[in-house]
Amino acid sequence: MPTAIHVEVMPARLGDCLLVECPRADGTTWRMLVDGGPPDTWPLLEARLRRLAPEDRHIDVAVVTHIDSDHIGGMLPFLASDLADDVGDFWFNGRTHLAEGPSGRSRSVAQGESLVAALLGATEDPLVSGTAAASDGRTLPWNTAFGGGPVETGDSGGFVEVAVPEGPAITVLSPTTQRLERLADTWEASLREALHGRERDRGAELDVLGPLDDLRHLADERSPRDSSVPNGSSIALLVEHRGASVVLGADAYGSVLAAALRGLARARGAQALSVDALKLPHHASRGNVVGELVAAAPASHYLVSTNGDVFHHPDDAALARVVLDAPAGPTLWFNYRTPRTERWRDARLTERHGHRAAYPDPEHADAGIVLDLPARP
Ligand SMILES: [Zn+2]
Repeated sequence: MPTAIHVEVMPARLGDCLLVECPRADGTTWRMLVDGGPPDTWPLLEARLRRLAPEDRHIDVAVVTHIDSDHIGGMLPFLASDLADDVGDFWFNGRTHLAEGPSGRSRSVAQGESLVAALLGATEDPLVSGTAAASDGRTLPWNTAFGGGPVETGDSGGFVEVAVPEGPAITVLSPTTQRLERLADTWEASLREALHGRERDRGAELDVLGPLDDLRHLADERSPRDSSVPNGSSIALLVEHRGASVVLGADAYGSVLAAALRGLARARGAQALSVDALKLPHHASRGNVVGELVAAAPASHYLVSTNGDVFHHPDDAALARVVLDAPAGPTLWFNYRTPRTERWRDARLTERHGHRAAYPDPEHADAGIVLDLPARP
């Protein structure tokens, strides 16, 4: 069967940088970039995008899922480059979108408001904003699919279907309005941290690998839930095209994703929303990959984006939940081969649990994970 959705999870160290392509019937490609990884991912991302055929370099949607350095670091040089001129729409929730504050601020992008200025934290002062927009010299399309308003789902359990002309069906699964409002309180500090914060010096800590002989025990541990406000504001999406489907979980909260997926399944008259692939939220952190998420969207392929820097992801408890509770025989796709990810291909483990583990082709490790989901009749 021809490919319906092509997913690349680029090596972005501890972060996310994904390219999603959906071939159209007329031979052209609908294309989406999701995040740019930390700043040092940019050379790789730029090289990848410049390899696209010049006549088909269009990026229909570029998503900045949330303000964290491991997601926006590579997006800032992208926005400053000529490649950003080929983007049809940027999806990003800026300060403008967070809430109708006491000033009665509109929740939509104002005419001429600069996405770049917003990302650099210059929107508060109209004078500064104007200057930044002018020095940037361009106004990039921003949340136009949402009428300039926020990318959000409304209440918990809500979801929003986006009309994409000639493209795949896209459903917004996160954030809820409430999670986005929470970001208003910490916007300045979160943005400062994302732009200037240095990776916390936890990388020096030795990564101690625990045993994997009792996955049920690992899966059942009471993991502390992710409480990062920027993570909770993540834009997470379901992309469906010609019968194939992938959930792009960003760093979203597992409970928020699960509620939206259950709501969507209910609306379609199903118990759960079976999908082909799921990019595990927050680099397969145990605080995000919770049991209710695995139950809400059983998948055949689980994508893990991290090399373990700083936070020692992926967490064993997260992958234990996937291996035990996903439908039989899922494949774990790791975009790095590390001691922490290598263990999941252990023959005793895969025989006992029936999963598979896949890694980048060592000859083309710079390509990360490349997954082609076939069309279904
Ligand atoms: Zn992240």
